[in-house]
Amino acid sequence: MSNRPAMVIIGAGQSGARAAHALRDNGWEGAITLLGNEGVAPYDRPPLSKAVLLGQKTTAQCALYDEAFYREQRIDLRIDANVQQIDRAARAVVLRDGHRVGYQRLLIATGAAPRRLTVPGATLEGVHVLRTAADALNVLDELSPGRKIAIVGAGFIGLEIAATAIARGCEVIVIEAAARALMRAVPEIVAAYLVERHRQMGVDVRFAVQVDRIIGSAKRATGVKLSDGTSIACDCVIAGIGVKPRTELAEAAGIDVADGIAVDDTLRTNDPHIFAAGDVCSFPHRLFRRRMRLECWKNAEDHARIVARNMLDRGETYSEVPWFWSDQYDMTIQIAGMPGFGVTTAVREISATSRVFFALDRDGVLVGASGVGQVSEIARDVRIAQELIARRACIDPTLLSDRSVKLKPLLAAEAL
Ligand SMILES: Cc1cc2nc3c(=O)[nH]c(=O)nc-3n(C[C@H](O)[C@H](O)[C@H](O)COP(=O)(O)OP(=O)(O)OC[C@H]3O[C@@H](n4cnc5c(N)ncnc54)[C@H](O)[C@@H]3O)c2cc1C
Repeated sequence: MSNRPAMVIIGAGQSGARAAHALRDNGWEGAITLLGNEGVAPYDRPPLSKAVLLGQKTTAQCALYDEAFYREQRIDLRIDANVQQIDRAARAVVLRDGHRVGYQRLLIATGAAPRRLTVPGATLEGVHVLRTAADALNVLDELSPGRKIAIVGAGFIGLEIAATAIARGCEVIVIEAAARALMRAVPEIVAAYLVERHRQMGVDVRFAVQVDRIIGSAKRATGVKLSDGTSIACDCVIAGIGVKPRTELAEAAGIDVADGIAVDDTLRTNDPHIFAAGDVCSFPHRLFRRRMRLECWKNAEDHARIVARNMLDRGETYSEVPWFWSDQYDMTIQIAGMPGFGVTTAVREISATSRVFFALDRDGVLVGASGVGQVSEIARDVRIAQELIARRACIDPTLLSDRSVKLKPLLAAEAL
């Protein structure tokens, strides 16, 4: 184990790779070790359920950087380094092969693991999740025209897979245990609007029903038995039932965990030498006045930028307004803030195919905006809404609903 001052990052995913880059950009000249366990260099996950499943992009094309980048930036990327333990007393991480890597500052960016079905039959062949590039290739293999795909979970991943499976000529059923789609993410009206589109495209979406068992023959899944007694034949089952933050290493090392590794607003854990970023951590959000954990690309990127600076003792607080997007059919969904925290919704009909749904909390404060439709028609309003959310603006819902009222002047008025 070398005694050189070192920044060590566990998790060569979105946050980990971007943080390594940001450490260099912020002038860190010492060693950077980026420890990954997927056997491939860091890549972007969002295309996995979109362009990769549509056959428009290979997983190799999703790489965040080319090989030369790590060499040029002197980032020691290890793609088969499974971290088994954090030895806080010795300030070292222990790899599965017994090697130890000492750190001056440690970043835990281990992301989240997909929840798997636990019902009888869940280990049959043809039952999938989608988190990694390897998962995407397995799912891609299943999506041939005419095959019947059962998707469990009407969250963003499930709905994106439904849309790509339809585009590939599959027959699709989506089975959701809750009474509606996207329970945590958006208000009911937004979810209903999206589900309506899926139904128009031929997806059989069923709510308030669970998969009790996966039916199989010769080791392979051939159907699902539902809690309402129906059995549905299918060629494969894809579970999109959420993720669980990978907190095991932190917990075992005695680092505080609260639905994710608990960090302060500088993304530092209760150990001053250890930070966490991305899907794995929960952090206090100044605007929303609560601790939250996000599972989205922009959060992973923003966290990486800030955490790198704070690993260099800049002490910057994190307070970005969350932003998320999804693509389904020819629609883009852009979400700013936390629409799920709203109690009333104002709907702005931009065109026959585009809407922005504004979510206001009990005090009339704008807390979220969900744009659904054509990017060119919704992006601007969602961007302005993001700034209004940052200012905790209270805006008359009738103004938000009226598409003849421009949002930009409302922003200017808020600044007064
Ligand atoms: C299919 C898919 C589609 C998505 N689409 C969108 C989208 O449209 N819009 C959006 O905003 N977000 C989307 N997301 C979410 C976004 O990709 C994630 O929020 C982001 O990847 C989180 O980055 P992260 O660095 O926190 O975690 P990850 O990217 O998951 O990286 C964590 C890495 O740590 C590794 N690791 C874990 N434990 C260890 C260990 N002990 N030792 C070594 N390495 C370890 C993991 O294997 C992984 O490589 C999507 C995600 C998926 C899976």
